[in-house]
Amino acid sequence: MSMPTTIRSRTTAQRNSKRSVPRTRLTAAAKRRFQTRLLNWYRKHGRDLPWRKTSDPYRILVSEVMLQQTQVDRVIPKYHEFLRRYPSFEELAEAPVADVRKTWYPLGYNIRPERLHSIACETVERYGGELPRAADELLSFKGIGRYTAGAIRSFAFNEDAPILDTNVIRVLHRVFLAKGNPKTQKTKLWELSEALIPRGKGYDFNQAIMDFGAMCCTARNPTCRQCPMKSFCKTYPFDVKHGRR
Ligand code: SF4
Repeated sequence: MSMPTTIRSRTTAQRNSKRSVPRTRLTAAAKRRFQTRLLNWYRKHGRDLPWRKTSDPYRILVSEVMLQQTQVDRVIPKYHEFLRRYPSFEELAEAPVADVRKTWYPLGYNIRPERLHSIACETVERYGGELPRAADELLSFKGIGRYTAGAIRSFAFNEDAPILDTNVIRVLHRVFLAKGNPKTQKTKLWELSEALIPRGKGYDFNQAIMDFGAMCCTARNPTCRQCPMKSFCKTYPFDVKHGRR
């Protein structure tokens, strides 16, 4: 019996729309393989950074806000100077915002010290100087987005919270998707970031994937030949498939 035209055409449309959705079959074995190789790589190559020696939510927040748009080597001296001057939420909240801006110089993007100051004021007023750990409460602060909330939850509170910054987007897109514009696939990438975290290891996993994106799977010169993911990375080898821009 032939199918009515309307149903047939709807079915074709459905098939086509399914085809356009990037499929990522993340089997348990693929997950384990990525996790194991990433964490092994991190043990050998992970960076020794000052904000990895603390779990103080204030210090983690300061480092995360500074690292938005600024390279690690420029952030390190400013991070120490800023904390000497404003060692806690209370001291930052009490400081005039113009002074905070001056201390921030020359990092740039002056909206960042203002936001940090406003987060400090809110933390003192609403939470007695203790940053909350719940995602919805963190996200209610002006200046704390999904990435920063995830970073605070995993680096300060040791939770298995996903993060998605430029480095993480690049690594996950290259290894698991390879097609399309990463900017339009954030939902899928957030899902991947969350699904890949090994239980109880959110802190190490998130630090590892950021280092991996900054040092191995870099934007322009990824070291594909030495990469532990090359046997299953969908973009390997980057140079041949995509060329350098
Ligand atoms: S093989 Fe190349 S593109 Fe793939 S994850 Fe490794 S460095 Fe990145």
